[in-house]
Parts: sequence; C-alpha cells; structure tokens
Amino acid sequence: MSKDSLPFHTPDISEDDIQAVVETLKSGWLTTGPKVKQFEADFAAVVEADHAIALNSCTAALHLALIAAGVTAGDEVIIPTMTFAATGEVVTYVNAKPVLIDSQPDTLNMDPDLIERSITSRTKAIIPVHYGGQPCEMDRIMEIARHYNLTVIEDAAHALPARYRGKLVGAIGNFTCFSFYATKTITTGEGGMVTTQRSEDADHVRTLSLHGISKDAWKRYTSEGSWYYEIQRQGFKYNMTDVAAALGIQQLKRCDQFWESRKRIVELYRAGFADIDELTLPVCRDHLDHAWHLYAVQLHLEQLSITRNIFIEELKSARIGTSVHFIPLHLHPYYRNMYKYQRESFPIAALAYERLLSLPIYPKMSSEDVEYVIEQVRRLIIRYRR
Ligand SMILES: *Cc1c(COP(=O)(O)O)cnc(C)c1O
Repeated sequence: MSKDSLPFHTPDISEDDIQAVVETLKSGWLTTGPKVKQFEADFAAVVEADHAIALNSCTAALHLALIAAGVTAGDEVIIPTMTFAATGEVVTYVNAKPVLIDSQPDTLNMDPDLIERSITSRTKAIIPVHYGGQPCEMDRIMEIARHYNLTVIEDAAHALPARYRGKLVGAIGNFTCFSFYATKTITTGEGGMVTTQRSEDADHVRTLSLHGISKDAWKRYTSEGSWYYEIQRQGFKYNMTDVAAALGIQQLKRCDQFWESRKRIVELYRAGFADIDELTLPVCRDHLDHAWHLYAVQLHLEQLSITRNIFIEELKSARIGTSVHFIPLHLHPYYRNMYKYQRESFPIAALAYERLLSLPIYPKMSSEDVEYVIEQVRRLIIRYRR
C-alpha cells in the first residue's frame, strides 16, 4: 500500500498465493478441475459443512440455492432491506418477489420479530444476511422456517469465519452462500461457495452450475468419463476455475490469521473511540463469533454539525478510504418503482443509512494505519461537535 493513502480495502496476497496460481497456470488445467475439488473439500472442512460447491460468485450461489429450494415464479422470499444488491436481485432471477424487512437497530441484522408478519401463503424462503459478519438470530429464524416450512438460504458473504452459539456459519441453514470477491474476508478475485448438509441439494446445485449437465468437465474429460453427457435440466455457467481455486486454497489457510488481525483492529478502534459519545460502535452479541468483515460505525448526527457525506469527504482529504454498507434496497429507484416502497417503510434501516460509515478493517493495515484512522475520525468529531 502506498505510504500516503489508506484505501478502504486491499487484499492480502502473499508470494505463496502468487506461486500457487502460477503453478496452476503452468499445469495446463485452467478451468474446473482438481484445484476446485480440493478447495471445496478444504472449505467444507473449515466450516464443518457436509458439502461445498465452488461457483464464480456469491450471487450465483444465492441464485442456485433459490432454484434448488424450489422457489419459482410468483413465490415470495423474505430478505432484509439492509443488504447489497445481490440478495434482492437473485430473487427476481427466478421471478419471485423480494419481500423486504427492517433491521434490528444495534446489529443491523434482519429483525426476527418482523419475519412472521411478512409470511404469506406464497412465502417459500428466507435469506438472512449476516451483516458485517455478525450472525443473525439463527435459532429464531430456523424455528420460524420449520414452522412455516420455509427454506433458509444464508447470505454469508461477510461471515467467514463466524459462529452462532458455537456452530459455524456454513453448517446452520439449508444453504449457506459465501463470497470471495476482492474485498471479502478471503478472495479468489471473483468467486463464491454454497454449503449444504444434504447430498441431493449439493448434486442439484452442482448440476445447475454447469449447464444442467450431469457430470462436471473434470470427470467428463478424464479416464473417469467420456465425451458423452446429458443435459438434465436448465443450467447456468457458474463454475469456478482452477486458477481461482488455487488462490482460494491458499487464502483459506490464512482465514483464521486474517480474522485474528481484524479482531486486533476492532480492539484498537474500541479503545480509540471509547470516550467518543458521538459515535455508535458496532456491537457483538455474547453468544456469537463475529467475522468482523466490516467495521460500520454510526454518527450521532444530532450531536454533530456535519453530515455523513461530508464526513466521508473529509476523511478522503485525509487520504482515508471509507464506504457505506448499505444503501437499503428500499431506497433504490428500482425497488421504489417496482414495489412501491417509501423511506418510512423501513425506518430503522433508513435512519441508520444516513449515519453509517464503514472504516477500513483488513489484515494489511498496520497498527499505525489504524491509529491514523482513529486520530482523523477523532479530529473531525471534535471539530464538528455541537
Ligand atoms: C458481496 C456481497 C454479495 C455478492 O457477492 P459476489 O461474490 O460479488 O456475488 C452478496 N451479498 C452481500 C451481503 C455482499 O456483501
């Protein structure tokens, strides 16, 4: 990272990571093959899932999980408004309706108390998003899902590694979808993974991921298979490459080390902002292990003479990159137009949005980098204090 600027995120790519990718390039096998198999096996072991299927994005993972769950045209899927575009978009891929719900004010996860009142005879699935890496109230969500016969598809794009009451995210819901996008806790550039405990579901997702063909390319072109294949159902081109998986295998080995680094940064932020009343720091419930993918603070705007947007500009002038997670789905033109949502439809998320600011948190940050962020945030708060 350049000395004079601190980006919002930089992936941690080691020489070993680079070497592993180079070796795969030299091996002659670039697309789905032995590296993908190994990455899937390693990943399933890490999150203690029975099955893992590697794909080219988390968006693809969510899409295929919805199909495997049997969600079709006219169905409804409950999702939080406080999420990224992908969570809602995939529901529309299968011509179902995304039904948004509001957040808990402290964790910004979907409020489990609001789920039941959104369930109708057409509801087929719930997609909880583990906001920032903090698991949702999974006991409650799984109980509601069992009662109404719904499928739970977790959007765990932020939640590697994370635990709910000691259980790893990846081994809880019917399907769990992870992202290896460049800014996530481990990366393959672009990439995703679905985990599930049922072998029928795993086979279904695997078939869907490669043109609805019954065997993957690896088996087809090795001694295990032949030129022959059958298209079993409508499929997609969502498979991961061995080039990406080679990076994934390496990154996964350092997943816990990366997590320790982020937890160290959380402690520094916590100490650095302890006496600042104008900030709400992210919380972590006792029975959870938080992945700390994001460090999203909320500005108490009523105590400050600065808006969040100007705050971001000021930090940018201090060469610190920040972001906002998220612009709630219901505030976007597409959702307002299609589903007639208004700002007040989800007041908790709408209010949080105006106050949210994600500070950088990633292993390549030095302690001095973190101290610099703390110093600059404090300087602005003190300057704009009412
Ligand atoms: C990043 C992200 C996704 C999408 O992940 P991709 O791998 O880029 O498809 C989905 N949901 C959430 C909450 C995300 O942050």
